[in-house]
Amino acid sequence: MTQINCEPLKELIRTVPDFPKPGILFYDITTLLKDKTGFAQLIDAFAAYYIGKEIDLVLGIEARGFIFGPALAYRLNAGFVPVRKPGKLPAPVARVNYDLEYGSDALEIHLDAIQPGQRVIIVDDLLATGGTMQATVQLVRQLGGEIAGLGFAIELDFLKGASKLQEYDVFSLLHYD
Ligand code: AMP
Repeated sequence: MTQINCEPLKELIRTVPDFPKPGILFYDITTLLKDKTGFAQLIDAFAAYYIGKEIDLVLGIEARGFIFGPALAYRLNAGFVPVRKPGKLPAPVARVNYDLEYGSDALEIHLDAIQPGQRVIIVDDLLATGGTMQATVQLVRQLGGEIAGLGFAIELDFLKGASKLQEYDVFSLLHYD
Protein backbone atom coordinates (compact mmCIF):
# COMPACT_ATOMS: atom_id res chain seq x y z
CA MET A 1 0.00 0.00 0.00
CA THR A 2 1.34 3.50 -0.78
CA GLN A 3 1.88 6.05 1.97
CA ILE A 4 -1.04 8.42 2.42
CA ASN A 5 -0.62 12.20 2.78
CA CYS A 6 -2.32 12.90 6.09
CA GLU A 7 -1.72 16.66 6.29
CA PRO A 8 -5.31 17.49 5.19
CA LEU A 9 -6.55 15.64 8.28
CA LYS A 10 -5.25 18.51 10.40
CA GLU A 11 -8.22 20.56 9.21
CA LEU A 12 -10.50 18.02 10.92
CA ILE A 13 -8.80 18.27 14.31
CA ARG A 14 -10.27 20.85 16.65
CA THR A 15 -7.99 22.66 19.07
CA VAL A 16 -9.50 23.87 22.33
CA PRO A 17 -7.50 26.40 24.38
CA ASP A 18 -7.29 26.08 28.16
CA PHE A 19 -8.71 22.54 28.37
CA PRO A 20 -8.64 20.70 30.73
CA LYS A 21 -6.78 23.49 32.52
CA PRO A 22 -5.42 26.95 31.74
CA GLY A 23 -2.43 26.99 29.40
CA ILE A 24 -3.13 23.62 27.71
CA LEU A 25 -4.10 23.58 24.03
CA PHE A 26 -6.18 20.41 23.70
CA TYR A 27 -6.14 18.53 20.38
CA ASP A 28 -9.65 17.14 20.03
CA ILE A 29 -9.86 14.22 17.59
CA THR A 30 -13.63 13.71 17.94
CA THR A 31 -14.14 16.11 15.03
CA LEU A 32 -11.91 13.88 12.89
CA LEU A 33 -13.53 10.63 14.05
CA LYS A 34 -17.04 11.73 13.10
CA ASP A 35 -15.94 12.52 9.55
CA LYS A 36 -16.35 9.26 7.62
CA THR A 37 -13.65 10.08 5.07
CA GLY A 38 -11.25 11.41 7.67
CA PHE A 39 -11.70 8.40 9.94
CA ALA A 40 -11.14 5.99 7.06
CA GLN A 41 -7.98 7.86 6.04
CA LEU A 42 -6.69 7.76 9.60
CA ILE A 43 -7.07 3.97 9.79
CA ASP A 44 -5.80 3.45 6.23
CA ALA A 45 -2.68 5.48 6.94
CA PHE A 46 -1.88 3.48 10.09
CA ALA A 47 -2.59 0.23 8.28
CA ALA A 48 -0.34 1.22 5.36
CA TYR A 49 2.53 1.66 7.79
CA TYR A 50 2.06 -1.58 9.75
CA ILE A 51 0.76 -4.05 7.16
CA GLY A 52 3.38 -6.70 6.47
CA LYS A 53 5.10 -6.21 9.84
CA GLU A 54 3.51 -9.34 11.31
CA ILE A 55 1.74 -7.64 14.19
CA ASP A 56 0.03 -10.04 16.61
CA LEU A 57 -1.57 -7.48 18.93
CA VAL A 58 -2.58 -3.83 18.92
CA LEU A 59 -2.59 -2.32 22.41
CA GLY A 60 -4.73 0.77 22.95
CA ILE A 61 -4.19 3.13 25.88
CA GLU A 62 -7.33 4.29 27.72
CA ALA A 63 -9.29 6.14 26.59
CA ARG A 64 -8.65 7.49 23.10
CA GLY A 65 -6.40 4.60 22.10
CA PHE A 66 -9.57 2.50 22.40
CA ILE A 67 -11.26 4.42 19.63
CA PHE A 68 -9.03 3.63 16.69
CA GLY A 69 -6.91 0.76 18.07
CA PRO A 70 -9.60 -1.88 17.41
CA ALA A 71 -10.24 -0.63 13.85
CA LEU A 72 -6.52 -0.87 13.16
CA ALA A 73 -6.31 -4.34 14.74
CA TYR A 74 -9.10 -5.50 12.44
CA ARG A 75 -7.22 -4.21 9.41
CA LEU A 76 -3.98 -5.89 10.52
CA ASN A 77 -5.69 -9.17 11.32
CA ALA A 78 -4.38 -8.75 14.87
CA GLY A 79 -5.98 -8.93 18.32
CA PHE A 80 -6.76 -5.88 20.45
CA VAL A 81 -5.71 -5.42 24.09
CA PRO A 82 -6.88 -2.54 26.31
CA VAL A 83 -4.41 -0.85 28.67
CA ARG A 84 -6.59 0.61 31.38
CA LYS A 85 -6.68 3.01 34.29
CA PRO A 86 -6.45 1.21 37.67
CA GLY A 87 -9.30 -0.93 38.95
CA LYS A 88 -11.10 -1.47 35.64
CA LEU A 89 -9.78 -4.86 34.52
CA PRO A 90 -11.43 -7.89 36.16
CA ALA A 91 -8.68 -10.56 36.03
CA PRO A 92 -5.13 -10.42 37.53
CA VAL A 93 -3.11 -7.47 36.22
CA ALA A 94 0.37 -6.03 35.88
CA ARG A 95 0.51 -2.42 37.01
CA VAL A 96 2.86 0.48 36.36
CA ASN A 97 2.92 3.79 38.22
CA TYR A 98 4.24 6.87 36.45
CA ASP A 99 4.78 10.55 37.19
CA LEU A 100 2.74 13.34 35.67
CA GLU A 101 3.60 17.04 35.66
CA TYR A 102 1.67 17.29 38.94
CA GLY A 103 1.19 14.02 40.77
CA SER A 104 1.18 10.48 39.42
CA ASP A 105 -1.02 7.97 37.65
CA ALA A 106 -1.06 4.25 36.91
CA LEU A 107 -1.97 1.87 34.09
CA GLU A 108 -2.85 -1.81 34.14
CA ILE A 109 -2.95 -4.72 31.71
CA HIS A 110 -4.23 -8.27 32.15
CA LEU A 111 -1.34 -10.59 33.00
CA ASP A 112 -2.42 -13.04 30.32
CA ALA A 113 -2.98 -10.39 27.63
CA ILE A 114 0.37 -10.98 25.87
CA GLN A 115 2.24 -14.22 25.34
CA PRO A 116 6.05 -13.91 25.48
CA GLY A 117 7.43 -13.12 22.03
CA GLN A 118 4.19 -11.81 20.56
CA ARG A 119 4.72 -8.79 18.32
CA VAL A 120 2.88 -5.80 19.69
CA ILE A 121 2.21 -2.24 18.62
CA ILE A 122 0.92 0.32 21.12
CA VAL A 123 -1.30 3.16 19.93
CA ASP A 124 -2.57 6.37 21.48
CA ASP A 125 -4.13 9.53 20.10
CA LEU A 126 -1.33 11.90 21.02
CA LEU A 127 2.33 11.94 22.04
CA ALA A 128 3.08 14.83 24.39
CA THR A 129 5.85 14.27 26.99
CA GLY A 130 5.93 10.53 26.31
CA GLY A 131 5.35 9.51 29.95
CA THR A 132 2.14 7.58 29.23
CA MET A 133 3.70 5.59 26.41
CA GLN A 134 6.90 4.98 28.36
CA ALA A 135 4.82 3.46 31.17
CA THR A 136 2.90 1.26 28.73
CA VAL A 137 6.17 0.07 27.20
CA GLN A 138 7.21 -1.10 30.68
CA LEU A 139 4.01 -3.16 30.97
CA VAL A 140 4.62 -4.87 27.64
CA ARG A 141 8.22 -5.64 28.57
CA GLN A 142 7.10 -7.11 31.91
CA LEU A 143 4.85 -9.49 30.02
CA GLY A 144 7.56 -10.44 27.52
CA GLY A 145 6.00 -8.87 24.43
CA GLU A 146 8.15 -7.72 21.53
CA ILE A 147 7.47 -4.05 20.76
CA ALA A 148 7.20 -3.72 16.98
CA GLY A 149 6.12 -0.07 17.05
CA LEU A 150 4.51 2.86 18.85
CA GLY A 151 1.82 4.68 16.87
CA PHE A 152 0.22 8.08 17.43
CA ALA A 153 -2.32 10.09 15.48
CA ILE A 154 -0.66 13.32 16.67
CA GLU A 155 2.83 14.15 17.91
CA LEU A 156 3.61 17.47 19.61
CA ASP A 157 7.21 17.70 18.39
CA PHE A 158 8.13 20.62 20.67
CA LEU A 159 7.61 18.47 23.79
CA LYS A 160 10.20 15.96 22.53
CA GLY A 161 8.33 12.91 23.82
CA ALA A 162 9.94 10.75 21.12
CA SER A 163 13.32 11.26 22.80
CA LYS A 164 12.05 9.07 25.69
CA LEU A 165 11.12 6.33 23.22
CA GLN A 166 14.27 6.27 21.10
CA GLU A 167 14.73 2.51 21.28
CA TYR A 168 11.46 2.00 19.40
CA ASP A 169 9.94 2.67 16.03
CA VAL A 170 7.76 5.73 16.69
CA PHE A 171 5.25 6.53 13.94
CA SER A 172 3.05 9.64 14.12
CA LEU A 173 0.60 10.56 11.39
CA LEU A 174 0.51 14.27 12.14
CA HIS A 175 3.21 16.50 13.59
CA TYR A 176 2.78 19.89 15.26
CA ASP A 177 5.77 22.18 15.95
P1 AMP B 1 2.12 12.30 27.64
O1 AMP B 1 2.17 11.17 28.61
O2 AMP B 1 2.61 13.59 28.20
O3 AMP B 1 2.78 11.95 26.32
O4 AMP B 1 0.58 12.58 27.34
C1 AMP B 1 -0.11 11.79 26.46
C2 AMP B 1 -1.50 11.49 26.93
O5 AMP B 1 -2.17 12.64 27.42
C3 AMP B 1 -2.32 10.96 25.77
O6 AMP B 1 -3.10 9.86 26.25
C4 AMP B 1 -3.17 12.14 25.35
O7 AMP B 1 -4.49 11.72 25.08
C5 AMP B 1 -3.15 13.11 26.51
N1 AMP B 1 -2.76 14.47 26.12
C6 AMP B 1 -1.64 15.12 26.55
N2 AMP B 1 -1.59 16.36 26.06
C7 AMP B 1 -2.69 16.51 25.27
C8 AMP B 1 -3.19 17.60 24.45
N3 AMP B 1 -2.56 18.77 24.35
N4 AMP B 1 -4.35 17.38 23.77
C9 AMP B 1 -4.99 16.19 23.86
N5 AMP B 1 -4.58 15.16 24.62
C10 AMP B 1 -3.44 15.30 25.32
